[in-house]
Amino acid sequence: MTVYGLWIDYEYCTGCKACEIACQQEHGFDTEELGIQVLEQLMNGGQTYNFMPIPTDLCDLCTERVQREGRPSCVHHCMAKVMEFGPVEDLARRMSQKPRSVIWAPKPRPRDQRPFDGADTGGSAQ
Ligand code: SF4
Ligand code: SF4
Repeated sequence: MTVYGLWIDYEYCTGCKACEIACQQEHGFDTEELGIQVLEQLMNGGQTYNFMPIPTDLCDLCTERVQREGRPSCVHHCMAKVMEFGPVEDLARRMSQKPRSVIWAPKPRPRDQRPFDGADTGGSAQ
């Protein structure tokens, strides 16, 4: 079985957070719910930032959207083109050329198995 994932190049991530918003809009999440979160790391005595987008437990790899449109919302909306979606074997080949990158392979899950479903979170999960 082919395992799919997200490849993220940290070196050129600008920290724009378009991926966070694209994910929220795609899934109808509210402002507290993030399928991907861009962490910020201050480097060189405060001179530079590192940005690290990390998928959360809410990420389902855009299963429905991928069937419909071929790629996840975050990948589509990343203007810096630092995200790719595909089989992890293909992504690993890409990663071998880019040491400051990672592959995430969250397990796609049906909506009724997401961690917030059934809980009174005050959010708008469907
Ligand atoms: S949209 Fe792309 S460049 Fe912007 S924070 Fe997300 S991964 Fe980084
Ligand atoms: S793949 Fe889809 S669900 Fe996962 S972080 Fe990107 S937009 Fe969100």
